[in-house]
Amino acid sequence: MKTKFKFSTFLFILLLTYFISLIYSTNVFADSLDKKNNLNNKHILILNSYERGITWSDDVINGIVHSLKNSNLNIDIKIEYMDIQSFSTCNDSYLHTLYDLYNCKYSNQKIDLIIPIDDSAFNFLLKYNKDLFNNTPIVFCGVNYFKDSMLKNQPMFTGIVQTMEIKDTLDLALSIHPNKKNILIFYDNSITGLAMKKYINELIPQYNNSLNFIFINDLNILNNKTSLNKFNDNSIALLLSGFTTNNKNNIFLKKDNFLSLNNFNIPFYTVWDSFINNGIVGGKMLSGYTQGMNVATIGLKILHGENPKNIPINKNCQSKYTFDYNKLKKFNISLPSLPYNKIIINLPPKSYKIPRLLLWLFIIICISMSSFLIINISEKRRATAELIENAERLRTLINASPDLICLKDTNGKFLEINEAGIHFFNLTNIKWKSKTSKELSQIEGSHKNRLLNYESSDKIVWEKNSIIKYEQEFSNINEDNIFHTIIKVPLFHSTGTPKNLVIIGHDITYHIRSEKSKKLLNEMVEYENLRTDFFANISHELRTPLNVILSALQYIEFMFKTDNNYKNNAILKKYSDIMKQNSYRLVRILNNLIDITKLDSGYFKLDPNNYNIVEIIEEICLSVAPYIESKNLSFLFDTEIEEKIIACDADLIERIMFNLLSNSIKFTNSGGQVTVNIYDKIDTIQICVKDTGIGIPKDKLSLIFERFVQVDKSLSRKREGSGIGLSLVKSLTELHGGQIQLKSEVGKGSEFIISLPVKTLPNKEIKIYSELVNQECNTEKMNIEFSDIYS
Ligand code: ADP
Repeated sequence: MKTKFKFSTFLFILLLTYFISLIYSTNVFADSLDKKNNLNNKHILILNSYERGITWSDDVINGIVHSLKNSNLNIDIKIEYMDIQSFSTCNDSYLHTLYDLYNCKYSNQKIDLIIPIDDSAFNFLLKYNKDLFNNTPIVFCGVNYFKDSMLKNQPMFTGIVQTMEIKDTLDLALSIHPNKKNILIFYDNSITGLAMKKYINELIPQYNNSLNFIFINDLNILNNKTSLNKFNDNSIALLLSGFTTNNKNNIFLKKDNFLSLNNFNIPFYTVWDSFINNGIVGGKMLSGYTQGMNVATIGLKILHGENPKNIPINKNCQSKYTFDYNKLKKFNISLPSLPYNKIIINLPPKSYKIPRLLLWLFIIICISMSSFLIINISEKRRATAELIENAERLRTLINASPDLICLKDTNGKFLEINEAGIHFFNLTNIKWKSKTSKELSQIEGSHKNRLLNYESSDKIVWEKNSIIKYEQEFSNINEDNIFHTIIKVPLFHSTGTPKNLVIIGHDITYHIRSEKSKKLLNEMVEYENLRTDFFANISHELRTPLNVILSALQYIEFMFKTDNNYKNNAILKKYSDIMKQNSYRLVRILNNLIDITKLDSGYFKLDPNNYNIVEIIEEICLSVAPYIESKNLSFLFDTEIEEKIIACDADLIERIMFNLLSNSIKFTNSGGQVTVNIYDKIDTIQICVKDTGIGIPKDKLSLIFERFVQVDKSLSRKREGSGIGLSLVKSLTELHGGQIQLKSEVGKGSEFIISLPVKTLPNKEIKIYSELVNQECNTEKMNIEFSDIYS
């Protein structure tokens, strides 16, 4: 605002200067043109009755010169000072001398206009204009004693008749000082002075002898400060004319011999404005300067071609009521007691007295207002800074949000889009501000659908005038579709008219995808449960007829042992053995299936006890050794330690060992070797089942513990099996908190290493395996576990 003001002021000043210079240059141009056109310069002669330095006539000359110089004529001014007063005693001879002088000076000079000042010069020209100046136009001023008859046969004369307002001034003084009775009339013995005295004498009767007129023509009296003391209280003074003392000294007339009236306590009045600064209170005064300007105006008319005969004599009074403010104050004269139309000089610059209390009140109000303003401004600044900081924070937060956030105006033009939004709409290098989705989609083609889809519901928000929320799917080039939850919030002005639209987009793709996966998983779990249930049921169902078959076979076996009719029936025996072995195989398969189903469903329970694991392994090895050797394989058992008590389920350790040994026998050709080693690894106990069999290819090593995995899956494979055994071994080992490893090389053999943690069950006794195991039962178990092995 401040800058604006300064600028406009500056502009105004500039324009003003320009116009002033334009006007000035136009004037100067016109002036110079006029002057050039005026080939003949104008010559003016000012004929002053007095000598140089007389205030009154100097004022007149100044007025004339000022007016003439400001005219558009090229004027040459000459001034002649007649100094009549100095030669008043030899009047005629002096005038003749002047005549001769001017004749000599001006007979060959062209004079276009003569301005005589005062009566003497006027009279001189009345007499000699024709002879001296060849009837040059005359414009006179300062003429007191004028009669129209004077200008008879003088057509070249015109001018201003001067009237001194002595009566008006006297009346003015009396109205201001109604109680003063002495009227001191100061005059000199000049023609004017005496004429004035005469004039006043004629006035006296009008005042009914109520006043005491005292005429003083010895102006020397004014040089003595105390001379007027006797008149003080009851007197006013009128300073009329002449001002030549009896000693022929001029007082007042010249600037350098002005006599100050300030020391007298009598109020002085006069009719001449030249004395106003000299201790005069006031009066109805003639202004020499004004008269000079007026006479010059008439003169210019003549110089421009007007005939003086056609210009009437100005006889109007040019006097004006004039006062000195300092003297008014000195004599306690109030301004309202003065005439309405007046000039007051020395007026003090206008000042207003403000009551002290009001001033203090004003200062206090100013201080409090400025402090209030300062506080207000600093408060406003602080608030603005805080606002900016908050806006920055908000912007940072909005930009950091993974959700898309936009702000639109009611025309759908974007005002704000956060980083996530810019990324989603691919607007990184695009000027998106104040553009609609449609406009942007024309610039940014690849995400056109995103922009337009997002915009599609804007209309609905403004129609409903409420928040809307919905899910939207967006296609994604070469990738799965993206899903957003879109929330649109309309904002309103306090008047209720729509203002902005806030749009928030939350990416729910992951949520939707995981929902789908979860559904799939649940379906799979349900299917798996069904399958497990099926296996559990079918296994149990199969086991019942199998047990019947096995019981029947047991009876047949018994018959073979006891009945001689059977003993020699080798074929029957052979088929009976086949039936038994395959029944065991079925039992084994069913056992494994039931265990796996139990493991899967979490129902498989470990029944641990503290055992000497070395004893368990050794006992198992002892029981299978004859069988292994019957398969034409050598068998070796070796152990680092004799005893290691660990918590384990002996039945499950049996299952693990029978499985591993069964595989070793099955996959080792006759003549090979099967070795069982026990190593003490302090924290763990390692049981290694090693063979010199066919080995397992490298690519199968990591898969071999998976369910139903077999190296040779062909129907023509040499070895039977279901591919469940190793997976069960692994699960049972892990149930003990142990691990299983496999080292194998095709053609060289395989080694399965079982590591079991050395942990015991506190407060539980150590069980002896050999005391618990039933040899017959163990043989039965072995038969089942080894049922895949054909002789
Ligand atoms: P299977 O009932 O088929 O023996 P397993 O789970 O016990 O099922 O064994 C899976 C497969 O691992 C076998 O089919 C066999 O190919 C391979 N395998 C297991 N043990 C050995 C071994 N000692 N030597 C060679 N191959 C073996």
